[in-house]
Amino acid sequence: MAHIAIVGAGFSGAVLAQELGKAGHRIDVFDTRPHVAGNCHTLRDEKTQVMLHTYGPHIFHTSNQRVWDYVQQFGTFMPFVNRVKAVTGGRVFSLPLNLLTINQFVHQTFSPAQARAFFAGFAEQGAHEPANFEEQALALMGRDLYEAFFESYTIKQWGVSPTALPASILKRLPMRFNYDDNYYTSLYQGIPRDGYTAIIDNLLDLPNVTLHLGTRFERALAGGYDHVFCSGPIDAWFGCDEGRLGYRTLDFVREDHVGDYQGNAVINYCDMTAPWTRISEHKHFAPWEQHDQTVIFKEYSRLCEENDTPYYPIRLVAEKALLAHYVQRAHQERHVTFVGRLGTYRYIDMHVTIAEALEVAEQYQRSLQENLPFPSFVVDPLG
Ligand code: UDP
Repeated sequence: MAHIAIVGAGFSGAVLAQELGKAGHRIDVFDTRPHVAGNCHTLRDEKTQVMLHTYGPHIFHTSNQRVWDYVQQFGTFMPFVNRVKAVTGGRVFSLPLNLLTINQFVHQTFSPAQARAFFAGFAEQGAHEPANFEEQALALMGRDLYEAFFESYTIKQWGVSPTALPASILKRLPMRFNYDDNYYTSLYQGIPRDGYTAIIDNLLDLPNVTLHLGTRFERALAGGYDHVFCSGPIDAWFGCDEGRLGYRTLDFVREDHVGDYQGNAVINYCDMTAPWTRISEHKHFAPWEQHDQTVIFKEYSRLCEENDTPYYPIRLVAEKALLAHYVQRAHQERHVTFVGRLGTYRYIDMHVTIAEALEVAEQYQRSLQENLPFPSFVVDPLG
C-alpha cells in the first residue's frame, strides 16, 4: 500500500482521498485554508440560518450518470433548477437566451421556426469560423442581443474585450428557440440539502485519511511520499518562479435584508449601469427551507492578486504560453500528478472535476497493479 499526499481538499482531492483511501492507501490531505471544500464551501449563517455558498453560488449539474450516482452516496441532493434573470437597459429578461427573451427583446411573437429563421441570417453574415467570443456571439445572436446581454457583462467579468476571449466561454451558454429557461442543459441538477462541505466531510471520512487544514504543502515534502496528487495551482507548485498564471477573482459584498430581496437566486446585470456582474440571494438556493431574513451578495470580478482566491483561469495567449512552461516542468516531476481546476488551469465545473478524479484514481490503481509509472497529468492542460 502506498503513502499518498493530496494537496487541496476540494472535490478533486476529496474524491481521490475517498477512492484511494477505500483501496487501503495511507493518505494525508493538505489544504492551506482552515476549512474543506475549496470554493464550493458552504456554511450556515449564524445570524440568519441561511446556508451560504461562501465563495459564490454553486449549482450541481451533470449528465454523467456515474457522477450523479456517486455524489448521492455522500449527501442528499434536493431538486433545484437554476433559472437566471438578466437586467439590461432597465428591463428584466429571462436567461439563457430563449424564445421568451427573444420575443420580449424584439417585440415579436416568433414561433420557434420563425425565430430560428430570423437568427440564421446572422450566422451567414460571418465569413469564417468564429475566432473569438465576440465573433461567436455575433454569429449566434446578432449585434443587438450581443450588446444587451453579453458585451458589457463579459467586460465586467473578464476585464478584457470579448474579441480577446476564446469562443469556448460563450459555448457554456445555450441559445434556445423554445421557452426552456433552465440555465443548464444537464440531465441532472440539484443542491445538497446539508451543503457541499458536508459532502466533502463525508468523502474524507475514512480512518486511513488524515486531514491537515491550514497547512501549506511544501514541494520539498514530496520525497516523503510514494505519490502526490496536487489540486493546488500548478504555478504555485514551482513557487511561481516563471511568473504567476492569471486568474479572475471575485469580491462578494454582503447585504442583509428582511423578506424577499429579488425573488430569485441569481440575477445578472448585463449592462454598465451596475458595476457588479450579478446578485445572488442565497436562501433561494434552498427553496425547501423557510427564512424571514435574507442575505444577498453583489458580485464583482477583478484580476486576482497574490493573496486573493483564484476563481476563473484566464487562459489567453500569454497565460497559455506560461502554462506550457509549467506543464513541461511538471512532466519532469517524479511521482506528482496535477488534477482539478487549479492543478490543470482549466475552467471546469464540479461534475467534470469529480469525473476526472474518479478516472485518475482508477488509472492510478491500475498503474500500481501493472507496476507502471503514473503520469503527471491524466488530462492534457494545454488541450
Ligand atoms: N455571460 C454574459 N452575460 C450573462 C451571462 C454570461 O455575457 O448574463 C458570458 C460571460 O462572458 C461569462 C460566460 O458567458 O463568463 C459564461 O457564463 P456562465 O454563466 O457559464 O459563467 P459562470 O456561472 O461560470 O460565472
